[in-house]
Amino acid sequence: MKNDTSRRNFLAAGLALPAAGLASTTSSPNPPAPAPPQAAAPSGKISYRTLGKTGMKVSTVGMGCMITTDSTVITRAADMGINYFDSSRGYQGGQNERMVGAALKSRRKDLFISSKCDGPWTGASILAQLDTTLKELGTDYLDVWLLHGLGNPEQITDELVEAQRKAKQAGKVRFIGMSTHNLPNIVDRVIETKLEVVQPQINYTSPGATYLPAVEKLAKAGVGIVAMKVMAAARGRRGGPPAPARTANSWAAALKWAINNPNIATTVPSMTDNEQLDQNFAVMGQSFTDADKQVLSARLEEIKPYFCRMCGQCSGQCPKGLPVSDMVRFAMYADGYGQFALGRENFQRMALEHQQVRCGDCTECTVKCPNGVHVAQQLIRAQELFA
Ligand code: SF4
Ligand code: SF4
Repeated sequence: MKNDTSRRNFLAAGLALPAAGLASTTSSPNPPAPAPPQAAAPSGKISYRTLGKTGMKVSTVGMGCMITTDSTVITRAADMGINYFDSSRGYQGGQNERMVGAALKSRRKDLFISSKCDGPWTGASILAQLDTTLKELGTDYLDVWLLHGLGNPEQITDELVEAQRKAKQAGKVRFIGMSTHNLPNIVDRVIETKLEVVQPQINYTSPGATYLPAVEKLAKAGVGIVAMKVMAAARGRRGGPPAPARTANSWAAALKWAINNPNIATTVPSMTDNEQLDQNFAVMGQSFTDADKQVLSARLEEIKPYFCRMCGQCSGQCPKGLPVSDMVRFAMYADGYGQFALGRENFQRMALEHQQVRCGDCTECTVKCPNGVHVAQQLIRAQELFA
């Protein structure tokens, strides 16, 4: 009974929305010289919002290019008025930036492009990566340059931030920031180091009690928020019961949940085809309704064995020291997004001693997830796939 009550409270908190709704959004923006839409746009009103103190007027639905392989979808998104595109040095084995750059080349000055750097985490390494990024994208500058996927404040070192500032002074990037799967952890360090943009994993599954205040605090400090993984993708385990397919309704509701938070300037859902692009585009300007809330509550129940909400409550519970939430995410890259290589790359970045652990050797898993993730099953899945 106690667990049920806790779960209901969690759902209520996670699905709560700031009262302001779409108040700060404009549907008649003045983004930097947006080209008129050239592609047939589905019904839906494009909306723009300011990305913190950067002043950039970004479409509330941007485009995550991580798993896009058809470059015409990217070009069409730009033609429709979407103006924020997110890539990373490491996506698709280093090939993603080249495709994104080619797709957007003719309209570069009208658009905002973001990319990220990975370890090794030294100033020299990330600056070298930036030069490769610019070359691959075929551009002289990035609008937003992010340290990729850092979850602890200690990882945001003075050396890295200094290197980012150096790149900014050199005109290679306009604004600097980081992406993270653990937003509440890094808020104070972001403000302290004066990073300008944060791209967190945040969605309707995120613990509202910690994630919503974190977003609000950053927004108040003028930090631009770009929400990623807003769809909370999850699929079933091979050999186990399949998770329900994502429906257009649950996609739309999840995206609405994010863009109706005025502290989130834009979102970067992954898109692979025109159908997804049209679905996501149509969500702009729509309110998050009680019906959406019901759809997401039901969806949350369905995905809970597979989807980590990054609440951090299992931290330190594994006696073998496994980074449980990270490993659940790695399995999700393969099973939820179809990105086996991305999952494997992340897995192989773990300490060797952690890569060598086999959860099947434990008689019982001591890690208890209060949100219903089948931890041992998901970690065994990651080990089967990537070890
Ligand atoms: S596995 Fe469960 S307890 Fe651990 S971070 Fe994810 S949701 Fe929280
Ligand atoms: S089964 Fe559980 S306790 Fe054992 S190694 Fe895996 S996560 Fe740790």
